[in-house]
Amino acid sequence: MSDKYQDRIDAFMEKMKATGAHEVEFLQAVEEVAETVIPFIAEHPIYEEHNILERIVEPERTIIFRVPWLDDNNKARINRGYRVEFNSAIGPYKGGLRFHPSVNLSILKFLGFEQIFKNSLTTLPMGGGKGGSDFDPKGKSDAEVMRFCQSFMTELSRHIGPDTDVPAGDIGVGGREIGYMFGQYKRIRNEFTGVLTGKGRNWGGSLIRPEATGYGAIYFIQNMLEREGDNIRGKSIAISGSGNVAQFAIEKVLQLGGKVLTCSDSQGYIFAPDGIHSEHLDFLKELKNVKRGRLSEMVQAYPDMQFFEGERSWNVPTNVDIAVPCATQNELNEEDAKKLIDKGVKVVGEGANMPCTPEAVECFYQNNIIFAPGKAANAGGVATSGLEMSQNSLRMSWTREEVDDKLKAIMADIHQQCVKYGRGDDGKVDYVKGANLAGFVKVADSMIDQGVV
Ligand code: NDP
Repeated sequence: MSDKYQDRIDAFMEKMKATGAHEVEFLQAVEEVAETVIPFIAEHPIYEEHNILERIVEPERTIIFRVPWLDDNNKARINRGYRVEFNSAIGPYKGGLRFHPSVNLSILKFLGFEQIFKNSLTTLPMGGGKGGSDFDPKGKSDAEVMRFCQSFMTELSRHIGPDTDVPAGDIGVGGREIGYMFGQYKRIRNEFTGVLTGKGRNWGGSLIRPEATGYGAIYFIQNMLEREGDNIRGKSIAISGSGNVAQFAIEKVLQLGGKVLTCSDSQGYIFAPDGIHSEHLDFLKELKNVKRGRLSEMVQAYPDMQFFEGERSWNVPTNVDIAVPCATQNELNEEDAKKLIDKGVKVVGEGANMPCTPEAVECFYQNNIIFAPGKAANAGGVATSGLEMSQNSLRMSWTREEVDDKLKAIMADIHQQCVKYGRGDDGKVDYVKGANLAGFVKVADSMIDQGVV
């Protein structure tokens, strides 16, 4: 980023803070975009004339609602529900729902804002949105989760629709939750439509959608490596998380001949000195998705693995070539970045949204680490949601190979867009700049075309 524009960036961020200083995650996401977009706008005054940056940081609509539900003891419980409909310039709002106790408006605004650029990069017609609740599905019975999802959808159904806003899953929202919400939407509206993505295979879901975010992140990393004349085969990889994104990132690494050394949950991380094999992965999927157990239970089944309580994957005791954070925002800080660099890391690809702090990203840049931001690297999930929407509209379903080929092509296209907008005079690619600018231009031009709305 050029110092020439630092005053303008600071002035813009001061204005943002004046109206929402407490929204720290949202400000972090906006600042990262402003740092690359403000210099670009200075060279392309049409965006300044139309005041695009100030318009794009304001959600078109924010809905906040009460979610009452009965627990198994018939006690009334209350959570807060949200949907941030951020930008619809290039298509219906599209973005996941997160159920986690940490959910608040700042986190959903950061996720919705990132989603605008990510969805634009996929080349599919999808605007940006995000929603969720501070409800914690952990430790709840299936019946409690169902009652919560039904109550959440009773209100949300007024605001969404297949041509308006199409939510999907995120942290704490997987196939089970999407099923309960879809059932309630259908009941209330008496419509069987593609209003949610991530649906079950029997009722409109797309093949490869569960795999798409993790697979897509690894395809993107493969694209970056290929640009350097390299590939994933034989590489040692540290992964964090053990949910949807992590599981399928691990699976794709195994298929491409890499070695995964770690995965984690909020209680600690697993180190597998000989690598996580497909048998381990099957065990992990069953443990997390069916039994809904804790990762630490893996070492009871596989004593050659070690569980480090309260630690993150970045403490891995051996060298690693690649790191793929797939858990949550700000899970990899400057200290972690330094540790990874000391262990020989060459490539970092964000499977999660904004998992690396700005200081960690800066540290990677200073040390010539190839770094892919989440809005490019994890866009495979929403891209395949877009493919699910297309299949629903066409009332047909594509084969596994067809969807996977399209996913691969989309990830390669996103990589190309990042290279086009992010390549410096020295030939190196700044993927953060590339993703932000490529995502911005399409949305900004559409906003100009559509007037002040
Ligand atoms: P899941 O709920 O399936 O898994 C989340 C994983 O991250 C779990 O292992 C969880 O551990 C861990 N985790 C969550 N919060 C924390 C925390 N505060 N500290 C440490 N670990 C934590 O979610 P997904 O895999 O779907 O999502 C992971 C990330 O990927 C998120 O950033 C999400 O926004 C992003 N993403 C997801 C997409 C998707 O298609 N699902 C698409 C694009 C991005 P525990 O079980 O202990 O909570």
